[in-house]
Amino acid sequence: MTQTERTVFVNGDYCLESEAKVSIFDRGFLFADAIYEVTCVIGGKLVDFHSHMARLKRSLGELDMATPLDEAGILAAHRRLVELNGIDEGLIYMQISRGAADRDFTFPAAGTVPTIVMFTQKRPVIESPYPKRGIAVISMPDIRWGRRDIKTVQLLYSSIAKNEASKAGADDAWLVQDGFVTEASSANAYIVTTEGRIVTRALSNDVLHGITRASVLSFAAESGFVFEERSFTLDEAKAAKEAFITSATSFVTAVVRIDDTPIGDGTVGPVSKRLREIYIDRAVGAAI
Ligand code: PMP
Repeated sequence: MTQTERTVFVNGDYCLESEAKVSIFDRGFLFADAIYEVTCVIGGKLVDFHSHMARLKRSLGELDMATPLDEAGILAAHRRLVELNGIDEGLIYMQISRGAADRDFTFPAAGTVPTIVMFTQKRPVIESPYPKRGIAVISMPDIRWGRRDIKTVQLLYSSIAKNEASKAGADDAWLVQDGFVTEASSANAYIVTTEGRIVTRALSNDVLHGITRASVLSFAAESGFVFEERSFTLDEAKAAKEAFITSATSFVTAVVRIDDTPIGDGTVGPVSKRLREIYIDRAVGAAI
């Protein structure tokens, strides 16, 4: 075993990453017929874990997929992976697929055993450089499928978008449908209007129902911020006072440039900064 090898979880077993195996017939591999969750780890504890599990159940239900492990089992496995891999700060990725079956578009017969895998990644989250300098985003057309509310592993377009951003010297992409921003490649998108109102797209099949979004909006309301859940155009975003994203591993991170337009004065604004502080205080404080 090398120092860098992680212990990962595959269908109930803990094994070295070099020894982990999944069938080539796995429907996650062949059809992206799988869903996932990413939970942030801070100080060895899981942030917003129960909300991630609630969304996992919803994704499974929407795709009529079975789970091989209940919430208590998943929690125990998360905690064991954190311990075995010495994760202080980073994330746990968990994926459940419909399982392995001979290749056929139609779902396999009931009783096919789902595949479940989990692995950890160490990564600075609180001390990440991005929230300090803010991120630059490019805009791209949103050509993903119509059920973005289900957290599937069908992430090719998000991957292309992030890659295009990187090629353009930016950090991420904001996706635009019919002139309105849907979300970022792997985060929810927000603006702060000149009146100081926080605006983010309402929940629908067009966006992922972000766990961090729900927490941040509820903490924001408790702290006296006013928010509106409505669509906003790319032009409105470019003219906004501030812009930011939320996700499990970026928390609240300011967007300081969209395409070639600096947002506000082009630096991290007070609302994004304050919301990040509140989220760290509240959500990280309540981690389990
Ligand atoms: N939208 C998309 C498309 C995402 O991939 C993600 C994160 N995976 C989010 C939003 C943010 O969701 P969460 O806060 O639950 O990480």
